[in-house]
Amino acid sequence: MSYEGTEEFICDLGHYWTADALTFMYADGEEKERTMTCSHCKGRAKWWSSIDETNGFYENEPRTFEAKKTLVGFYDVPLVDHRGNHYVGLLNKWEPDPTARWELLPTDEEEANDA
Ligand SMILES: [Zn+2]
Repeated sequence: MSYEGTEEFICDLGHYWTADALTFMYADGEEKERTMTCSHCKGRAKWWSSIDETNGFYENEPRTFEAKKTLVGFYDVPLVDHRGNHYVGLLNKWEPDPTARWELLPTDEEEANDA
C-alpha cells in the first residue's frame, strides 16, 4: 500500500493550512513553493508537520493525527457576502505545541545562504 497523508503548515503569523502529502511530494519546485505559501498573508510556511494516514488513525500513534497546536488568538478578516454586505470574519491564530513533532523550516534567507 502506498503512502497516504497530509502535510501541515503554520506561517509566521500563525495561520494554519494543510496539503495532500502525495501531491506535495510530486509537486515541482514552483508548485511546492506555492503550497508552502500562506494564502492569507502570502508569508512562507515557518512550521511543518506530516500526518501519516497510510494505515488509518491510531490513538497511541501521534504520527497518524494532527500535530498538537495551541489557539492563541484571532485575526479579523474583512469579508463581503453575496449581497455586497461587508462583515468581519475570524481567522484562527495558532502556535505549534513544543511537545509535538513540528519542525522549524529554514527561512528564505537561510535557504539562499545554503545555496
Ligand atoms: Zn499567514
